[in-house]
Amino acid sequence: MSGWKRNLLIAVAVIVALGGGAYYWLIVESSFPSDARFDLDISKVRALAHEGGGEKPLSIRVEHVANFHFPATAVVAGDGWSTVDLPVYTFQLVYPDGITGIVDTALTEAQGSGNATGFDQDAYNRMEAAIGKARFIVITHEHMDHIGGLGAYPDLPSIASNVKLNEEQIANPDRSAPVQIPAEVLASFKPVIYTDYKAIAPGVVLIKSPGHTPGSQMVYVQKADGTELLLLGDVAWHFRNVETLRERARLVTQFFLKENRTQVFGELKALSDLHAAEPKINIMPGHDGQVMEGLLAEGVVTQGFE
Ligand SMILES: [Zn+2]
Repeated sequence: MSGWKRNLLIAVAVIVALGGGAYYWLIVESSFPSDARFDLDISKVRALAHEGGGEKPLSIRVEHVANFHFPATAVVAGDGWSTVDLPVYTFQLVYPDGITGIVDTALTEAQGSGNATGFDQDAYNRMEAAIGKARFIVITHEHMDHIGGLGAYPDLPSIASNVKLNEEQIANPDRSAPVQIPAEVLASFKPVIYTDYKAIAPGVVLIKSPGHTPGSQMVYVQKADGTELLLLGDVAWHFRNVETLRERARLVTQFFLKENRTQVFGELKALSDLHAAEPKINIMPGHDGQVMEGLLAEGVVTQGFE
């Protein structure tokens, strides 16, 4: 073999090896970082849910507004290229006296253009009406499929006093693109400031969990009948992230989401430990249709806003 042919073969071999390495690193690799940790003290969270007394929500209602569809490996690194569904939900907590609260506000059809399918305008309209009469509106994090409905609300100043965004969510409006809340409206929201946990209503406790975004938080809800539901936001998209302790593909977390993977890994481990210790706590990842089916079947959540 002549010298240049040999050199060419070596060059091709190097490119293939590098390419394979890059593919593995970006698409498949999801080993658990040794420094990943997150403290989730469920006894403190439960105590806060009782703090101040008051009647807890009678029901947790859900609307399914739209769907995303991603390759499986985008959701759980290494899961391959089949397509998996990521339904988009919004939740309404209904108290005995008719007072309500909202957790996550989905997105409009326009905000999801090109990516979201099966948009349910009726469900969206019910949510929008519910936002208008809610005593509190919280979002798990500042991504368009959670803050979009709030951003698109026709008269945001009229509900500003009920919007409970945390300080990190308010400080990172770029993370909400293409959703844009006018700066003066954003500045009119009184930020929720806390370090680890914060009760915002009877039976409702925020759990600070940055990583997926700077303002990410989980929302713990305890109903009047004692049923517990932990809304993860997008700490995990599917329960499989918790079960397998595997993150989204690095291509997604690094280049699209700009996540802090180590923080998310710590949270997945804390959730896995919580699930083992407290299997009765219902855990709802951000976009898991199968988990939602189970919660509806068991009556943990109820279909349709009031
Ligand atoms: Zn999401």
